[in-house]
This record gives sequence, structure tokens and C-alpha cells, in this order.
Amino acid sequence: MAQEKILIIEDEKNILELVKYNLEREGYRVSTAASGDLGLEKARREKPALLILDLMLPELGGLEICKILKNNEDTCHIPIIMLTAKGEEIDKVLGLELGADDYVTKPFSPKELIARVKAVLRRREEKPLGTLLKSGTLELDLDKYMIRVKSKPVHLTSKEYELLRTLIQARGRVLSREHLLDQVWGYDPSFNIETRTVDMHIGQLRKKIKSEGHRIVTVKNAGYRFDLDA
Ligand code: CA
Repeated sequence: MAQEKILIIEDEKNILELVKYNLEREGYRVSTAASGDLGLEKARREKPALLILDLMLPELGGLEICKILKNNEDTCHIPIIMLTAKGEEIDKVLGLELGADDYVTKPFSPKELIARVKAVLRRREEKPLGTLLKSGTLELDLDKYMIRVKSKPVHLTSKEYELLRTLIQARGRVLSREHLLDQVWGYDPSFNIETRTVDMHIGQLRKKIKSEGHRIVTVKNAGYRFDLDA
């Protein structure tokens, strides 16, 4: 049985209870918060394996929480599934740009949410052991889920990490934005998520890996490739 701890931040009590019940039935340990500020505090303190985050919350909203967590090196690795209501499409895209891993639109079935939770957690686990990818001064340690540039650790969000790993493992092949959305975000192309989500993350990734940022090459009308020899 799964033992990972999942934190739910949701102010609607019936949804909170429903999600909690279903996660516990799957064997997860569950922590809850009914407001944004309490939720943020718990996320920082408990560092859950995954966060289920409602978008509309009193005091501190879901997007803000997502931004704060993803911009902090202690919490940026925590995967986030956002809960959004119908008609919040813009926020949905914004959430993904801020580093959320997935989203579920209300009303949803517990079965659907559990499937997403498992998929997000599984994506983290699917890494081969003991592999170190190197390019110039950049090192990507697949075992420890760590990046170093000039031997110094670089703190990436889970999506930035997956994006970099996917690009490096393509060994110089050009990958389209749609392919990256599918590989990194797990989206079907018919989902119609904006490809600028990919561009945003590429931009942040380049900034974070500093002197090695030039290796991520934009290929006009095609996508991106990682230059191993540049
Ligand atoms: Ca709400």
C-alpha cells in the first residue's frame, strides 16, 4: 500500500472530506488545511509527497501558494495538482505556467482524481537508478533527482527537472512543444493546453542553469533541442 503523505488545501468541507476519504482508502496518509495561509504553513513544515491545491481559497489563493512553493528551493520539488472550477481556464493555464503538475476540474469523480494522483507520483518514480548525465559543467543526477552546474546544486521545480531530463535524453534530437507537453505534463495533444507553458518553463530553465543555458536551443517552427557538445 502507498504510504506517501498528501496534503489537501481546500476550503469546501464536503470536497475536502471526500478527497481525504478516498485517498486514505488508497493507503495514503492525508493532511488537510481549510485555508490558504494554514495550507502554506503545512506544506512548508510537512513537505508532503504531493499537494492537492484548490484555486479559490480565502486569504491566500491557490495560484499564490503555487508560486510561493515553486519559488522556494525547499518546496519546489513538491508536485501540485490544482483543483479548478469550470470557467477558470485562464487560471488553469497560469497554474501550469507557475509550475503546477496537473489540474482537475470540478466537479470531478474521486476515481479521476486518484488516477491523476497516482500518475503524478508514478512519473517521479520512473527514473532509472544510478545514472549521471553530463554535458559541459552541467550534471543531472537521475538517482538523486539533482542538477549541478559547476558542481553547485541548482534547484529546479519538478516540471523544469523533467523538461531538462527529457531534452538531454533526446540526445540532440529536436522535440516539438506538443511532444514536450505530452512527455513532461502527460497531456494528450487534443487537450488544447497552450504550448507557451513549455516556452515559459524553457525560459526559467535557461536562467537557472546559467552558463549552460545556451545548450537549450530554440529551433524555429520545430521546438527545442539540447546541444550536448556546444
Ligand atoms: Ca474553494
